[in-house]
Amino acid sequence: LAKGLDALRGLPCITPDGHRMPLLVNTGLLVDVARAQERGAEGVGLYRSEVPFMMKERFPSEREQRDTYREQLAAFAPLPVTMRTLDIGGDKALPYFPIKEDNPFLGWRGIRVTLDHPEIFLVQVRAMLKASTGLNNLRILLPMISGVHELEESLHLIHRAFGEVCDEGIELSMPPIGVMIEVPSAVWQVRELARMVDFLSVGSNDLTQYLLAVDRNNPRVAELYDFLHPALLQALLTVVEGGHAEGKPVGICGEMAGDPSAAVLLMAMGFDSLSMNAANLPKVKWLLRQVSLDKAKTLLAQTLRNDHPLVAHSELQLALRNLG
Ligand code: PEP
Ligand code: MG
Repeated sequence: LAKGLDALRGLPCITPDGHRMPLLVNTGLLVDVARAQERGAEGVGLYRSEVPFMMKERFPSEREQRDTYREQLAAFAPLPVTMRTLDIGGDKALPYFPIKEDNPFLGWRGIRVTLDHPEIFLVQVRAMLKASTGLNNLRILLPMISGVHELEESLHLIHRAFGEVCDEGIELSMPPIGVMIEVPSAVWQVRELARMVDFLSVGSNDLTQYLLAVDRNNPRVAELYDFLHPALLQALLTVVEGGHAEGKPVGICGEMAGDPSAAVLLMAMGFDSLSMNAANLPKVKWLLRQVSLDKAKTLLAQTLRNDHPLVAHSELQLALRNLG
């Protein structure tokens, strides 16, 4: 197996009928970098910037953040690294910034926290911008955006941070900015949001949780948490169509992208890139290299006709197994 993986690393992710599908990784720690490179990732689709924050006893300074981000960016350059701004709250707590709420997943999390604390956001964006000087492989991604107003405010702050860094005499260009589509309201505003940014990235973990009203971490309802639910598949199609109608690339960075059979469907939907845990990358690459885009589209059409997720899962598995 190890030998097979080795051989696979250098091969492109391309279907038998010639469709290219860039495979990216999700990272958080520096150790993720080596694993990603071993598996031939084409860049980072999601750097969870809250991870280094979770390992400290206090907010890291701008300089500390810059050094941490620089390591990530330098390790992958010239490949792109998509850095998500701080996404705390929900299930991710900082010991030195306690948030007590009855419904944390519906509460103060992600961009809501940083828009209420622009000083945290500005320090972080300045650190990212400074870390990227001379490398130019930074992309900035905004979590938990639920509407146009939050995106406007975030963009305003990013431009302010950019101006401040330029005023320090540091030369840099504006990185591409993207928005996560992970709150259902964003699905219904996808064109308005897409118009304002350079790329979209679906967070299928939260989108599934919020669309189906199923806690992503509660084992009692784990069976209801299903990414082949027809409503989720329709939402994903809406996002891809909306993003493309505005000429913007659409990626996906939730766990769904790392599930080989789901990856086949995502490719058929027209996603421009898949970002996953490095551990899943070889399996996904292997399968996509066996399935033509044509066949994937047939499987997607079949899956969309199934309104029982369990049936959808077993039929999809069967169809893929029959491929060999
Ligand atoms: C997601 O919600 O799908 C996602 C990628 O972000 P996180 O898992 O960090 O919430
Ligand atoms: Mg999320």
